Amino acid sequence: MKAGSLDIDAGAAKADKRARHATPLMRQYLGVKKDYPDMLLLFRMGDFYEMFFEDAERAARLLDITLTRRGESAGEPIPMAGVPYHALENYLAKLVRKGESAAICEQIGDPADARKGPMERRVTRVITPGTLIDEGLLDERRESVALAFAPPRKKGGQAGYAWLDISRAAFRAGECAARKFEDVLARLRPSEIIIPESAAGEYQTEVKVTPLPDWRFSEDDAARRLCSQFGAQELAAFGLEDKPQAAAAAGALLRYAEDTHKQALSHLTGVSLDDDGEYVFMNAPTRRSLELVESPTGRTDATLFAITDTCQTAMGARLLSRLLSCPPRAREIAKARLEAVRHLSEDETNNSNLREHLRGLADVERASARVAMFTARPRDLSGLRDVFAKLPLIAAAAKARAKFLRELTLRLDVANIKPLAQAHDLLSRAIAENPSPQLRTGGVIAEGYSDELDNLRKLQQGAQETMDAAAEKARRESGIANLRVEFNKVHGFFIEVPKGAAAKAPQTWQRRQTLKNAERFITPELKRYEEQVLSAGERALSLERRLFDEILRALQPALTSLQDLAEALAQLDVAACFAERALTLGWREPSFAAGGKVEIRGGWHPVVKAQVPHFVGNDLSLHENRRVLAVTGANMGGKSTYLRQTALAVILASCGSFVPAEAAVIGDINAIFTRIGAADDLSRGRSTFMAEMTEVAAILHNADDKSLVLLDEIGRGTSTYDGLALAWAVFEHLLKHNRSPVLFATHYYQLTALAEASEAAANCHLAAREHGDDIIFLHRVEDGAASKSYGLQVARLAGVTESVLSTARICLLQLEKESAAAPAAPMPLFASDKGGKAKKNANNAPTAKELRETTQLLKETDLDRLTPREAHALLYDIKTRLAGKED
Ligand code: ADP
Repeated sequence: MKAGSLDIDAGAAKADKRARHATPLMRQYLGVKKDYPDMLLLFRMGDFYEMFFEDAERAARLLDITLTRRGESAGEPIPMAGVPYHALENYLAKLVRKGESAAICEQIGDPADARKGPMERRVTRVITPGTLIDEGLLDERRESVALAFAPPRKKGGQAGYAWLDISRAAFRAGECAARKFEDVLARLRPSEIIIPESAAGEYQTEVKVTPLPDWRFSEDDAARRLCSQFGAQELAAFGLEDKPQAAAAAGALLRYAEDTHKQALSHLTGVSLDDDGEYVFMNAPTRRSLELVESPTGRTDATLFAITDTCQTAMGARLLSRLLSCPPRAREIAKARLEAVRHLSEDETNNSNLREHLRGLADVERASARVAMFTARPRDLSGLRDVFAKLPLIAAAAKARAKFLRELTLRLDVANIKPLAQAHDLLSRAIAENPSPQLRTGGVIAEGYSDELDNLRKLQQGAQETMDAAAEKARRESGIANLRVEFNKVHGFFIEVPKGAAAKAPQTWQRRQTLKNAERFITPELKRYEEQVLSAGERALSLERRLFDEILRALQPALTSLQDLAEALAQLDVAACFAERALTLGWREPSFAAGGKVEIRGGWHPVVKAQVPHFVGNDLSLHENRRVLAVTGANMGGKSTYLRQTALAVILASCGSFVPAEAAVIGDINAIFTRIGAADDLSRGRSTFMAEMTEVAAILHNADDKSLVLLDEIGRGTSTYDGLALAWAVFEHLLKHNRSPVLFATHYYQLTALAEASEAAANCHLAAREHGDDIIFLHRVEDGAASKSYGLQVARLAGVTESVLSTARICLLQLEKESAAAPAAPMPLFASDKGGKAKKNANNAPTAKELRETTQLLKETDLDRLTPREAHALLYDIKTRLAGKED
């Protein structure tokens, strides 16, 4: 804290010193910069946006632009870097991708006043990664969410959070335990987090963190702001009356968004309670390991989203990504969509038609957000108009047989939705068929919409005819047959005469410019005409600007309906996408059941299947009387694929999609917990084992009888007995206390005996076959425990050298012998579960298995390759073994 305030003091002193020595322009710059200390300030100067001092150095690094200097400040050169005005959007996109924020300061004064001092300038736009709505700066298939976090007021209290997707006008707030913040982050994947200054240091994330003064998170201020913005008397209107921290976060976020956009966000109509009970709960590690929309390394190609997303519109793709990240828990939602998907998939041609009509539709959601903020571009409006024109086709193709589809098509019936009908009519009349992308170049408003504009345009278009007439007249006057009347931006209208004929020019013509082969002249008449035409062009442009503004204003009453239309189109797109996926990938309709049940026939992992030549479909059965399934089998046998595909089927079904299986019955699953994969979480100072145990602890605390739990090889990061003991205890706890449906992949064979002995547990394994020294993975799930772990064969497959493998074989034999001699440690605890089914091996007589294994070892050992030391160890081992048997 102390260091922080010293920094601030030093910064202020530096700024003061700079200002004292600055030129008027620099003083103006510094005055603006004071209000935007934490972001890059792009300061318009002529054709460039310039940055100075630290901003210039930073921007030069980030944008790879040249660092120059401009004058001096307090005896030091001022670093400067700039970008050309016409390339601003490209550079902004680059900055946003790097998580930077920027304030754009424009020249707004009249250049004629420039003599009195620097031209007036004002920040007109602030770009931050989480509050963007600009086309071109946003990934169109990804949500852009800003998140505010209000840490608990006292230790152990609730933290508040609020999130805003400004382009969807979605604004929600909720509370959670502070340690669950990571889960909220993983669910929402925000582009930016705002946090009170005093707490910013405690939350290290990969996402851009914007600290704000603590008072911005004040509860009272928040309540006032939310109520006044959304016209409510008290927070109860939003369900936030007993959630002060949620309200504090929402208040801070709303103000932040308004500050960055420099206006009230009129299209936001309220804030609502973010209740994570609405979704199938998944914590952060679960999301990471299931690779729903992003892999832990940030890749997006081999994910569930990538394989599922064939949406035709960006709105659909974003809805799909939201669904997969937050699968709804309510089965009515899934069932309604499933019915729609069934109907659509029954008629492939029709579904293709529907998708064809949806293809390339404008992004109604984001375009209407830009209309709300008065930043819409001409093509946003022509895009909206073209969407209206296509709606009847889309509605007809959706056929409306399923209730879900019927309801959606009603929302496309523009003729019966007054604000949309008016918007449609206005846009059809007002916007040119193919408007130019920029308002500043004109050509946006349609002909026939405004008489005044049409007249000004006529005057401009008449220019060619008038130029022809003027040339004809000049030829008559001068007798110069090969003269031309031309126009350019610098010199306006002029008569161009070839050099040789220049002497014939009448006295009344004024010489304007001498070129190598020609002379250029002007006449008073041409000058007069020029003024008329040029002013017509300017007047037309400013009229277009005014009309465009009026159109945006006239569209405001339609905003809510436009957002609703966008949502309906996104829903149709997703349903059609699910139908297409079902048809193309052979997914089948799941059905639902009560309780924590998951039954799957012939299921597959959609992403792995796309990567392997032949995927073996597998069955799964988890229910009340078979809750915990121990999954064994060789490494690389397919265990974790089997675990993950189960979770993906549950997620897809909850979203109302068909699933990658021949048949599936999915219970009322409320959460998915996984512990898969072993990565050190070094960024937070956790070893693999610590990370694993933290995740396991979260599962044991939170999983209930409707939570699907997937555990892959827990207990591996510590000593064998520790690990086994923990795995054993976790297995038992899940079985007896959590009573969750569990897939428990393990290498501990002792656990298979436990599964065997317990009433509601069972074994299954991924089958493999030996072929000489090699192993063939069958990837087929079979009942019962695996007979071997094939560790050495897999090591061989991986290229471990033969000499190491020989030593390992000997070691293995030794260890197996020792463990056979001593009873398995935790076993007696559970021996009574199924009438002592799990037998204790206290018999010292050589078993047939041991004899077979000894013979096998001798057969497999290549004596010529053993070192003397290894040979000695082998002999010693066999002797000890036999001596042991002789006792
Ligand atoms: P384990 O967890 O047992 O070590 P994985 O689930 O990681 O094994 O699977 C290893 C590899 O085996 C996968 O990357 C995939 O290529 C292949 N595989 C897994 N399951 C199947 C299957 N059912 N059919 C075909 N190939 C599979």
